[in-house]
Amino acid sequence: MSIAQNLQSIKSQLPEHVTLVAVSKTKPVADLMQAYDAGQRVFGENKIQEMTDKFEQMPKDINWHMIGHVQSNKVKYMTPYVALVHGVDSLKLLSEINRQAQKNNRVIDCLLQVYIAEEDTKFGLDDDELQELLSSDEFCSLKHVRIRGLMGMATFTTNQQQIRKEFDHLKAVFDTFATEYQFDTLSMGMSGDYQIAISSGSNMVRIGSSIFGSR
Ligand SMILES: *Cc1c(COP(=O)(O)O)cnc(C)c1O
Repeated sequence: MSIAQNLQSIKSQLPEHVTLVAVSKTKPVADLMQAYDAGQRVFGENKIQEMTDKFEQMPKDINWHMIGHVQSNKVKYMTPYVALVHGVDSLKLLSEINRQAQKNNRVIDCLLQVYIAEEDTKFGLDDDELQELLSSDEFCSLKHVRIRGLMGMATFTTNQQQIRKEFDHLKAVFDTFATEYQFDTLSMGMSGDYQIAISSGSNMVRIGSSIFGSR
């Protein structure tokens, strides 16, 4: 199947309130353009340099989402154009995004990454660190970032019950903070688990290999 057909087939399964982020990391611009020509306008990348190269080559009505782990010293390259940063997992990083956003006269939308998986290799805040960050004075003082919600990745496993349990947990955490902090975005679900994520309450899925093929 072509990229356009894959995209069409996934979009036909997504409820209207769910945003599809087409994860195009490692794929050439020609592949991204096939998705673009099929109507896709939201793309996710996990390396700032690669995302910036693609941003420069592609049409300017694309929303670029940074979905990977962010290195503080590279934030400045994406601040002029990035639409949403999914992987924010420390106040230090958030402060740097705020600093660069201020220089660019922008308010940058971010998601806080919460650690929900069993593996200890994944990035993210635990529930206590999340609470601590959101209630800190320093966070309150950051006027050039806006936290739109949370992002999480489930354990890489075929055990659907475990994946569901982890997504349900993240949804519960999201609900705890949503009203007070005006969260509207819960980013969870990838090619292998997005249906479970949506049934657990996700409204943003990040899908790569099911659209562009394996990497
Ligand atoms: C690569 C990646 C995805 C997409 O993974 P697929 O299994 O190819 O759909 C989603 N989220 C993050 C954070 C990723 O790094």
